[in-house]
Amino acid sequence: MPKHARDAGSEPAKAASRPNRRERAALRRSAHRRARLEEKLAAADRLVVRRTEQLTAANARRSAIAAKLALAVDASTGAGGHVAVTMAYCLKDRRQVRIAGAEQVVLPNGRTAVRGTCPSCGSSVLRMGTGVAQPA
Ligand SMILES: [Zn+2]
Repeated sequence: MPKHARDAGSEPAKAASRPNRRERAALRRSAHRRARLEEKLAAADRLVVRRTEQLTAANARRSAIAAKLALAVDASTGAGGHVAVTMAYCLKDRRQVRIAGAEQVVLPNGRTAVRGTCPSCGSSVLRMGTGVAQPA
């Protein structure tokens, strides 16, 4: 294809592909803005990674402490995982009941709880916490 013919035919496209001064300045600004935002995004990503690591470490520490606490409660009750007397709310009976076969457990989320059965209806009940022995 002869050069002059192609040039003549592609005049509007050529104009669009060659931005004028103002357009070039706008492009530079938007490129600069994009670079700044990408930098900010990278910084935010680094912060998320750091905070996630801190959260994981904190959760691990918490689990370790909760497990130690459960052991300490076992030692103080002398029941080997069974808590002396604990009340819990029975969802079926809709009242506080004394937990039968109360047992100290550590939930998957690392929290300690007392689990057992309701003496009146037999459904399982759960009470958050270490199960402070209550006077009968
Ligand atoms: Zn019940």
